[in-house]
Amino acid sequence: MKKLFMLSCWAVATLSAGVQAADFPIKDKPVTIVVPFTAGGPTDRVARDLAEALRKPLGANVVVENVAGAGGTIGANKVAKAPQDGHTVLLHHIGMATSPALYRKMPYNTMDDFEYLGMVNDVPMTLIGRPTLPANNYKELASWIAQNKGTVNLGNAGLGAASHLCGLLFQSALKIDMTTVPYKGTAPAMNDLMGGQIDLLCDQTTNTTSQIEGKTVKAFAVTSLKRLSTPALKNLPTLDESGLKGFEVSIWHGLYAPKGTPADVTAKINKALKVALKDPEFNKKQQGLGAIVVNDKRSDPVEHKKFVASEIAKWGPVIQAAGVYAD
Ligand code: ASP
Repeated sequence: MKKLFMLSCWAVATLSAGVQAADFPIKDKPVTIVVPFTAGGPTDRVARDLAEALRKPLGANVVVENVAGAGGTIGANKVAKAPQDGHTVLLHHIGMATSPALYRKMPYNTMDDFEYLGMVNDVPMTLIGRPTLPANNYKELASWIAQNKGTVNLGNAGLGAASHLCGLLFQSALKIDMTTVPYKGTAPAMNDLMGGQIDLLCDQTTNTTSQIEGKTVKAFAVTSLKRLSTPALKNLPTLDESGLKGFEVSIWHGLYAPKGTPADVTAKINKALKVALKDPEFNKKQQGLGAIVVNDKRSDPVEHKKFVASEIAKWGPVIQAAGVYAD
């Protein structure tokens, strides 16, 4: 009887301590990677490749759920408030660091409401245009924009999205205002660009590379300081060499769990992430899309968090100077 009492005390204590690593992953329960943008876009692409690479080291089925809207903040908020059992994680990009400056009101706190799991990759962006745009290189594009001041429109994946940030920097570098057209992700923005409803889009190579290869859009420049080696992109000039001195935007992606997820669970996920980041198939796929898989200390949760804090400090003043807010 005494033994039974002790056993039940142990069970209650274990349950109230939350999920233990031994329980994670829970048998037959998938791990869901929430992507805060629409399916078929660049963040979604990274998440689906990562899901595949994580399955084996995590010992669980890994699925992707798209929770799009408000520049990624709706999906991020969903994960901030999800059960803390390691089965719901967020794959987000630089928007983790830019949203706090872009939104007057945020439904979550970037630094306090998540357990940081590690960075995934760095992805440059490309400036692309509708296929009917009467410009075939960056120089022609620059004069077309100058001649059409006031009527040029620029799509993005929502206020706070990476494409929004790139568009802001592009307008401020040119000192020309364009009409911003927000979508819930790159996939619908890309559709409208291909259909000629919008003129320009600046977005991650993880999605634009195949469109550039297939010539369904016109490509004008890359946002990295150096030209890229990816075959489909290697002839594209950088914006820096095209006259916009110092123009550089690199979009990183990271993985996050809700705050309060037990440390041994987050350690298991981080361990699996590190295996995935070394997976040759994952690396091959990402490189083919112009992405650079993280191979430095940012794959550690503490360094990941430090890096995001430094990005918040970097982009906050840039966004404030541009004077843009979303409500
Ligand atoms: N690339 C998008 C952005 O601009 C988001 C997406 O992946 O759809 O943030």
